[in-house]
Amino acid sequence: MTRNQNFLGKHFPDINWSFNFPLAKLSYFKLGGPAEIFYKVEEIELVKQILSFCSKRDIPWVLVGGLSNVVLADAGVEGLVLEMACKGFKVLEDGQDSVLISAEAGMKTSQLVSKSVYLNATGLEGFIGVPGTVGGAIYNNAHYLDFLLADSIQEVTAFHVKNDEEIMFSHENCKFTYEQSIFQEEEQVVILSASFLLQKDDPALIKEKILEAQARRLDTQPLNYPSSGCIFRNPANNEFLKKLFPQFANQEFIPAGFLIDQAGLKNQREGAIVVSDKHAAFLINKSAELNIPASSADLKKLIKKIQLTIKEKFQVELKEEVFYLGKD
Ligand SMILES: Cc1cc2nc3c(=O)[nH]c(=O)nc-3n(C[C@H](O)[C@H](O)[C@H](O)COP(=O)(O)OP(=O)(O)OC[C@H]3O[C@@H](n4cnc5c(N)ncnc54)[C@H](O)[C@@H]3O)c2cc1C
Repeated sequence: MTRNQNFLGKHFPDINWSFNFPLAKLSYFKLGGPAEIFYKVEEIELVKQILSFCSKRDIPWVLVGGLSNVVLADAGVEGLVLEMACKGFKVLEDGQDSVLISAEAGMKTSQLVSKSVYLNATGLEGFIGVPGTVGGAIYNNAHYLDFLLADSIQEVTAFHVKNDEEIMFSHENCKFTYEQSIFQEEEQVVILSASFLLQKDDPALIKEKILEAQARRLDTQPLNYPSSGCIFRNPANNEFLKKLFPQFANQEFIPAGFLIDQAGLKNQREGAIVVSDKHAAFLINKSAELNIPASSADLKKLIKKIQLTIKEKFQVELKEEVFYLGKD
């Protein structure tokens, strides 16, 4: 037993910790090594107690949601990987024109969307097929076409682990922009819950938007293979790109998948990791089909190769949308 396992096991004897837990089976990409310690936590108070203890005892920790936007190191993750599974939900105000709801960070994003639809509230329909949790979606300010999750967020309740205190973040203080929030900068802060202000609308229109979003995903995404969705953020448009691709001249961002496709990189492969020919920003895990093991080392090689090619061809730095956990 390691020092970290020993400390946590002794201090929280009633918790059924998993040691050397194979994280790959939980991750959407189905690759990466084990967590030294893993636990799925369902109570907010326990989240705070566990993380505070880790902080005081210098046990490395990370809070995750659905593991749909991470690349796990082949060597695994040192310390505690805590899965946020607190799923509380409340209707705070249900008015004639709007509704204010709050959800804990471990609720599935699609479940939050379903609950809003049930209340005849509009604004979240596009997020119906986003895998993972509300906390993960707030962390990267999930997007669907031009919609950002942040557009509906009123407030976020978070926990500062080192200071052992809850903090409220107003919408402005969350510093939301495309694929960004303050939570990516604040390593000691975890998201506990958030409130969403939504307008009421005609249920038939809401249903139509849901069906449209579902159909669009099925049409454009390679959902039959493990992946982490789009690996790259869409880069900002510029004069050079506008001249090359006038069809996007009016857009602030240019789709990363389009550039990868234009560079002729569809179907490029490193080991079991392949650039999808359906959506070139999706790198997919074809381990089962090719009958070879998948590794995050191969994934990282393919990411580098794409970044170099896109830089050479279009003078654009492609940045990852995924987050890396653990060290190889
Ligand atoms: C098929 C597919 C389609 C996708 N489509 C979209 C899409 O349309 N739009 C989009 O934006 N994304 C999309 N994604 C990416 C991903 O699903 C989303 O970003 C999702 O919101 C991540 O949530 P998660 O709970 O899985 O986060 P995780 O992968 O578990 O974590 C991601 C990061 O967030 C941090 N984190 C998670 N929860 C918390 C918390 N409570 N407090 C602090 N930090 C936290 C983790 O530490 C990690 O760094 C897609 C992915 C797949 C596989």
